[in-house]
Amino acid sequence: MNMQFEPIAPKSKRPFIIAGPCSAETEGQVMATAKALAEQNIDLFRAGIWKPRTRPGSFEGVGKEGLSWLKRVKEETGLKVTTEVAKADHVYEALKYGIDVLWLGARTTVNPFSVQEIADAVSGMDIPVLIKNPINPDLPLWMGAIERIYKAGITKIGVIHRGFSFHGETKFRNVPRWQLAIELKRNFPDLMMICDNSHICGRRDLLQEVAQEAMDLNYDGIMTEVHPRPDEAWSDAAQQITPDTFRDLVSSLVLRQENSDDVEYLAHIDDLRQKIDEIDDDLLKLLGSRMKVSEKIGEYKKRNNIAILQTSRWNEILDQVMVKANAEGLSEGFVNTFLRAIHQESIDHQEKVMNSQEA
Ligand code: PEP
Ligand code: MN
Repeated sequence: MNMQFEPIAPKSKRPFIIAGPCSAETEGQVMATAKALAEQNIDLFRAGIWKPRTRPGSFEGVGKEGLSWLKRVKEETGLKVTTEVAKADHVYEALKYGIDVLWLGARTTVNPFSVQEIADAVSGMDIPVLIKNPINPDLPLWMGAIERIYKAGITKIGVIHRGFSFHGETKFRNVPRWQLAIELKRNFPDLMMICDNSHICGRRDLLQEVAQEAMDLNYDGIMTEVHPRPDEAWSDAAQQITPDTFRDLVSSLVLRQENSDDVEYLAHIDDLRQKIDEIDDDLLKLLGSRMKVSEKIGEYKKRNNIAILQTSRWNEILDQVMVKANAEGLSEGFVNTFLRAIHQESIDHQEKVMNSQEA
């Protein structure tokens, strides 16, 4: 599908800043946060009114009443406001109260029925829509949501990368898997991309480094949860920060440009990139030779009726390589992924040899 997006704000405004509490709790809390953030010239004020909670019994949002607080934010601070919508009714209510931008949460993007319901509700309207990634790392599902909203006639679309559910040990609440967002950007280069560092991190101490990483990957902006008294927040307390901490976070961000036309820079970077290309060529050739040896091993095992996998040998490789990788300054996570991919490819080559009809 050939889509042409309009940014929800001029592209030159970088970073585009969305901030505000996870949830609107009371009128006082909403107004206090908005006033503090208006002084910081943020671009869009966020607050959840309807909260999709993983388990019932948690605070599920103040509902419609909160929309009049957001309306007051607009009137008294001049800030534009955004809230999450998950059903057609939410859309109608939000529009009635003059909400400027709608966003789809991760638990909505995951469900094509819900996305379509919202697409039908915004059809023909002139309202920007931000689409969070689905909770699972499924790029076509994310793209599908973008397509549904686009087909409803909305061209002012942005995406919010908020990380993905993950079972296992990780320092993040939702692992970023940056490559997935980068892949989305490769497909839709003019799509505005925002990093929701709050839901990626789930904790305050990582917010700055994740926001900086997003800037270094050329994201257009950030969405961060800000609360006047974070520890007392009714939802997502561990990841919210005060307006003052948020000011420090934003001012610490180093913004680098995507490119330069400086002749010396261009010549030098070309030189370095050529070296990278040559090394990549060498790596590919080496991997090809490694697979040829694997095939020989496959033939040999076949003749001797030996299975492909010997766990002890695989453990030995892992141990040996980890020590060497460490000495080369390579991270354990990377080497693990890389080695496992090579191992799988090697198994596939051996499988092919073992199960071919030839002698
Ligand atoms: C939120 O932004 O508060 C929220 C519920 O986020 P997500 O949809 O990313 O879980
Ligand atoms: Mn939240």
